[in-house]
Amino acid sequence: MTNASEENKATGAEQPGTQPMNPGDEVPAGTPGSGENICPDCGGSGRRENAACPTCGGTGIVIEAVSGGA
Ligand SMILES: [Zn+2]
Repeated sequence: MTNASEENKATGAEQPGTQPMNPGDEVPAGTPGSGENICPDCGGSGRRENAACPTCGGTGIVIEAVSGGA
């Protein structure tokens, strides 16, 4: 039995804290004190005029800074 199978490690695919920001994001995803919110431009549908909403990148969600805690 030849054992020539190695696990392919996809590098640079998805790394925590390095997600691309959308124009509608106030802060990068994962920022402490931030939270997801419905995109005000498309209302959460992710579409505007039969095209992907540029504000949220078609996700319908934007990351907003939430002043929580104290
Ligand atoms: Zn949107």
